[in-house]
Amino acid sequence: MHFGFQTVTEEERREKIYQVFENVAKKYDVMNDSMTLGIHRVWKDILVHKMNPCPGTLLLDVAGGTGDIAFRFINYVRSVRQRQLQRKLKHHQNLSWQEIFESYQKDEFNSLGDSQVVVCDINREMLKVGKQKAEHLGYSEGLSWVLGNAEELPFDDDKFDVYTIAFGIRNVTRIDLALQEAYRVLKPGGRFLCLEFSHVSNPLLSRLYDLYSFQVIPVLGEVIAGDWRSYQYLVESIRQFPPQEELKVMIEDAGFFKVDYENLNFGIVAIHSGFKL
Ligand code: SAM
Repeated sequence: MHFGFQTVTEEERREKIYQVFENVAKKYDVMNDSMTLGIHRVWKDILVHKMNPCPGTLLLDVAGGTGDIAFRFINYVRSVRQRQLQRKLKHHQNLSWQEIFESYQKDEFNSLGDSQVVVCDINREMLKVGKQKAEHLGYSEGLSWVLGNAEELPFDDDKFDVYTIAFGIRNVTRIDLALQEAYRVLKPGGRFLCLEFSHVSNPLLSRLYDLYSFQVIPVLGEVIAGDWRSYQYLVESIRQFPPQEELKVMIEDAGFFKVDYENLNFGIVAIHSGFKL
């Protein structure tokens, strides 16, 4: 196994990845925006739209870091609930102002209903930054933070409706174990969704992308976070990650059905999806 230009054991790799995210945690969001020119926000929105959660959905976001997917999930479910309530109000035009006022008072319009999202990450620092962000942005209902390893999830079998992992799976040392764990914790009928950097097939674009990744990103890392090496690791880990078709086969090997993927921006990232039957 390679890390930088060295060959390292699985345990050493795990520790180094831990250090990388511990180092970048405070600057993680700023760096994400500058490295992707803000496009990671669009990719994450697309992931949540694809999930199309409804009130009642129980989501596990693994490698959830500073909570980007969880916050989007909450916003999405709230907007679905608001639309449902607006429809209800339209159909019950005889609802008194008192009743409408009570609905607002109970904060039904901002409520998640029975939905919940659990953010699970191996790194304490990333979770700490995420919790601070949640507090600052006013997210608390239906949201919990759990320290845990994707390869050995601290949850019961058949528990969640949806499992997401965004820009996380390439950092996991044993991808096969993480996929088996995803399968275990999903309910039958549950959905697996993975958003990850992938491989660009167009040769010209691929060359340009390589130049940007290897020449620009570590420099940005140094300028913004004072950390060249961590960002060099992030670029190398993207290159070493299995291409779209290979990951699809790995997901199928873990037991998932109807496995498919969608390339975004010519394959710079891909969303893989599968179902537990
Ligand atoms: N999902 C977030 C996002 O999209 O912004 C964070 C992605 S960040 C690039 C990768 C995250 O994976 C880090 O927070 C890191 O701590 C976490 N991670 C790495 N290995 C992990 C593992 N084995 N189990 C759980 N989380 C892990």
